Amino acid sequence: MSSELLNSEAVKAQAHRLGFSACGLARPHDIPSEWAAYYERWLSEGRHAGMSYLQNHQDLRFHPSLLVPGVRTIVSVALNYHPAGGPTQPGLAWYAQGKDYHIVMRRLLRQLMETVGGRGRCFVDTAPVLEKYWAWQAGLGFIGRHTQLVIPRLGSAFFLGELFCTQEADTYDTPLTSLNPCGHCQRCIEACPTGAISNRGMDARRCLSYLTIESHDEEIPVWAAPHLAECFYGCDRCLRACPHLHAPSAEPCQEFRPSQELLDMTPQDWQRLTPEQYNTLFRESAVKRARYEGLKRNLKPSEGGNTSS
Ligand code: SF4
Ligand code: SF4
Repeated sequence: MSSELLNSEAVKAQAHRLGFSACGLARPHDIPSEWAAYYERWLSEGRHAGMSYLQNHQDLRFHPSLLVPGVRTIVSVALNYHPAGGPTQPGLAWYAQGKDYHIVMRRLLRQLMETVGGRGRCFVDTAPVLEKYWAWQAGLGFIGRHTQLVIPRLGSAFFLGELFCTQEADTYDTPLTSLNPCGHCQRCIEACPTGAISNRGMDARRCLSYLTIESHDEEIPVWAAPHLAECFYGCDRCLRACPHLHAPSAEPCQEFRPSQELLDMTPQDWQRLTPEQYNTLFRESAVKRARYEGLKRNLKPSEGGNTSS
């Protein structure tokens, strides 16, 4: 039954029961002008690369009440995908080992909305929502130098999702007082093989995750290709370098575990990958985003040597 006021503790307890590692509640507001200006500058410098969708719907992105009229509470949640020592397929980034997170997260968000009697909409990476900003506002963590949300003592191996509810909450969380407690740490910058991270933020044009997942270019740039030797879909180097990274005590969702079929793939198998095999291996996987042609492009041996020799 839906209540007029969201009980913050009950929302967090239910989120925890559903397997989320962190949950917080933020009071919606217009995005501060300095944040909007930073975002606009980032776009104007072309650092979003070919992700033109990031230029769309800025009014909705900066004003949550335009995205969901009457929104009074934003519930931010984090779902762990750290493999916690379990087997992984080294060719793929951690987040892409199992089922597509959009499917899993959407189901869990709907369950959370329903069980806490919330009214509103659920979002998982598919709407103009500044999800890291709202996670920070909801007290989940801080935005690190690698521009991902860092949950203190847990790191960044999390999917983020939001409930935009039209009810008020009895209590709201507060952001960590320091937005960037990275201090003098530069580990993610040092770990990035392509210089995509700097103290000015992220340049997607140089990021292997962008180049291997989002980019529709026919070829991987010559300077980037040798770096795909270990992982040809995504890249976890900056995430893994962070001293905050630790496996959460809760097991990752079973659906994020790789299938035996995927684990068994060898570099030679990847070279011989057929469209039929691709469809079977990645039936409900986020890897579908790259398409078969994109994955084959990433697997093309480079002069620097590819894993799939
Ligand atoms: S994902 Fe890889 S290439 Fe991209 S910023 Fe992180 S370390 Fe650099
Ligand atoms: S590696 Fe260091 S600088 Fe980078 S996000 Fe983590 S704490 Fe911050």
